[in-house]
Amino acid sequence: MDNCIFCQIAAGKIPGTIVYQDDEVMAFRDINKQAREHIVFIPKRHLSASLADLKPEDSEILVWILTAAQQVARDLGLEHGYRLVTNSGPDATQSVFHLHFHLLGGEQLTGWLG
Ligand code: C5P
Repeated sequence: MDNCIFCQIAAGKIPGTIVYQDDEVMAFRDINKQAREHIVFIPKRHLSASLADLKPEDSEILVWILTAAQQVARDLGLEHGYRLVTNSGPDATQSVFHLHFHLLGGEQLTGWLG
């Protein structure tokens, strides 16, 4: 989608600090980090705006993303733990409408994302 900022990062049209990619998933550092390590995981294809409208036939991407997150957490040395969260819709304060997950760690986490 031309007007989607995460599609533009996935296509290399705008810069992102990429820490991981495979055929289906890209992960990059969040530009407004909420923890010492804050990585955003996206499907490279614009499968859905959020988790709420992901189609059952596209749900395999969830395994790809969780597997990528597990790998990146290991690579970043997050052996003491981390949080993986998705914001879906306005009540969750979602701001970019391309399915994505946040990996937060590298420090003692306290409350939830606000
Ligand atoms: O869950 P939510 O939609 O609010 O998260 C979008 C995230 O994408 C924000 O944390 C924001 O800082 C991040 N972002 C980014 N690079 C951009 C635009 C947004 O890391 N170019």
